Amino acid sequence: MAYAKIKKENCPHLGEMKILTSDAKKCEKCEETTNLRLCTSCGRVFCCESHMGHNKEHFKETGHPIIVPLPTSSPFTWIWCWEDNAYLE
Ligand SMILES: [Zn+2]
Ligand SMILES: [Zn+2]
Ligand SMILES: [Zn+2]
Repeated sequence: MAYAKIKKENCPHLGEMKILTSDAKKCEKCEETTNLRLCTSCGRVFCCESHMGHNKEHFKETGHPIIVPLPTSSPFTWIWCWEDNAYLE
C-alpha cells in the first residue's frame, strides 16, 4: 500500500506538535513495547497499526493529528498526520 506524502508547510496541523519526545516504553492501553507512536499533541504513547492500532484509536477519540515514532530522533524518522492521512516531508 502506498502512502501519500505532503510538504510539511501544506499541513495545517503542524502547530499542534507540542510534545516532541517521551521516554515511555510501552503503549498505555495494551502494554505493547515495539513500534510505539508518540502523540505530539498530548505526549501520550500508543502502539501502531501493526499491533492494536491504539494510536489511531487515540486520534479518533481526541482529534490529535500528528504522531512520530518512538524512540524519537532528530530529525524524526518520519512524521504522520492523521488529518491529512499522509507523511509530512
Ligand atoms: Zn495535517
Ligand atoms: Zn496498544
Ligand atoms: Zn494525544
